[in-house]
Amino acid sequence: MAKYIFVTGGVTSSLGKGIISASLAKLLQARGFTATIQKFDPYINVDPGTLNPYEHGECYVTDDGAETDLDLGHYERFLNISTSQANNVTTGRIYQTVINKEREGAYLGKTVQVVPHITDEIKRRMKLLGGEGYDIVITEIGGTVGDIESLPFIEAVRQLQWELPDQDCLVVHLTLVPYLKAAKELKTKPTQHSVKLMSENGVNPDIIVCRTEHPLSAEIRRKIAQFCNVKTEAVIEAADASSIYEVPLIMMREGLDRICLEKMGIAVSGEPELHAWKSFLEKLRHPRHKVSVGLIGKYIELQDAYKSILEAFVHAGAVNECRVEVVNIHSEFITDGNVDEKLSGLDALLVAPGFGLRGIEGKITAVRYARENGLPFFGICLGMQMAVIEFARNVLGIADAHSTEMDPDTPHPVINLMEEQKHVSGKGGTMRLGAYECMLAAGSLARSVYGADTVSERHRHRWEFNNDYLSAIERAGLMASGKNPATGLVEIVELPGHPFFIGVQFHPELKSTVESPHPIFVRFIGAALENAERRSAARGVHARPQMI
Ligand code: GLN
Repeated sequence: MAKYIFVTGGVTSSLGKGIISASLAKLLQARGFTATIQKFDPYINVDPGTLNPYEHGECYVTDDGAETDLDLGHYERFLNISTSQANNVTTGRIYQTVINKEREGAYLGKTVQVVPHITDEIKRRMKLLGGEGYDIVITEIGGTVGDIESLPFIEAVRQLQWELPDQDCLVVHLTLVPYLKAAKELKTKPTQHSVKLMSENGVNPDIIVCRTEHPLSAEIRRKIAQFCNVKTEAVIEAADASSIYEVPLIMMREGLDRICLEKMGIAVSGEPELHAWKSFLEKLRHPRHKVSVGLIGKYIELQDAYKSILEAFVHAGAVNECRVEVVNIHSEFITDGNVDEKLSGLDALLVAPGFGLRGIEGKITAVRYARENGLPFFGICLGMQMAVIEFARNVLGIADAHSTEMDPDTPHPVINLMEEQKHVSGKGGTMRLGAYECMLAAGSLARSVYGADTVSERHRHRWEFNNDYLSAIERAGLMASGKNPATGLVEIVELPGHPFFIGVQFHPELKSTVESPHPIFVRFIGAALENAERRSAARGVHARPQMI
């Protein structure tokens, strides 16, 4: 039977519950337990697929096509296992299920209420993955304790504490211990209040994890323990880290895994086996080279909008023993007049995924620059579509080639809606979503990068390469090197003869993890490094300036 650990947050949002949950799961996994993590989000959207990046950062997609919270990306990157639809549940989905059941008459004339019907549905979903053979299921409750909308989730945890055997249910509460500069003191009061709020709702945290910018003294730990009804060992310091990948080791030093296991009645012996993780960290901490990669997008001011891409750079950078300096470039402000000035200092260029018209021409201008100047190029989803449009316009000479997403009346829709998408009216969950197979052409860069002839990658888009233009485009030199074996849809394009030019219709960044860095990202950073070397050789510099 699975054991359940709930992770709640207090005082403020953005304390890093996702990273703490993922770190704890990593440590338990490294001790030989099977662990998974799920996220319960209190908002009413059925899933985050309809939220724009300004609201919610990146939308993460699972193999089974769920549009989910970006924390699931952290879970996969840390644990190196796939998550699914069951790993992310929102208030919207809970209510949708309950209301559908009510309409079917499943409640037999009863009044349908938050308690017990909504909380029963929350509990059912909280326990779902426990039935799949995991030893430990970690459930992160989104939001902050005290929010009106998170109350039913806390109530569900309260009920589960009584329904499950005593040692099968644990609550870890993450809070902030702020430092007041004027008083030169860490303050525990917000944590006390937050735990008090939890207790008023009938849930007493077993372990308190304290985010802090300064070390917690023994005195502060004692104080938190005393006011919050836990032992001093159950007060865990979560100091700010230089990288999210340091957090599992910080949590290990603080004994978070040990205390969780002890409280769940599991004998603790030895240390977690983190060999691969530590060797990744070694490379991350001591890079030998540096490259600068331009990230062209329209949400570049948002930290979370391209989360998985940035993390995939970190993984691929470590493999290449190279620090990837990401230069954020706003696509809206790239023009023919300034593209050279904006891009000439870069070692490589990634054109990001996206939706809608804004910034499109800047992306196309950037692709052209990369194609014509031998600058390593990687286009993802919309970035790949822009590469196809650019090629059609500037190599094939079809000046008005476009995507019907941006120009529904274009006479040359090189990127077009699939037949089955043409009649879709609803926005939620209706794109091409989740894992699809892709067959790689013999002799292609894609085949050599993956070292396989068929791969599976995740999708999230409506528009596709229009095969009416396939033979003209291939004849002109852009190779369709990856195709969907079932539908013939083009999934990868590449430019033979260019140092590195690849566009993919899917989202490889979603499958890059610490222990399995994504091969395209790895090769792309390798190409950036080679370009950096070429560039410094061309400048007549013998000692590579990019060495650090
Ligand atoms: N807007 C494009 C489409 O829907 C690309 C989507 C994306 O980049 N994820 O096809």
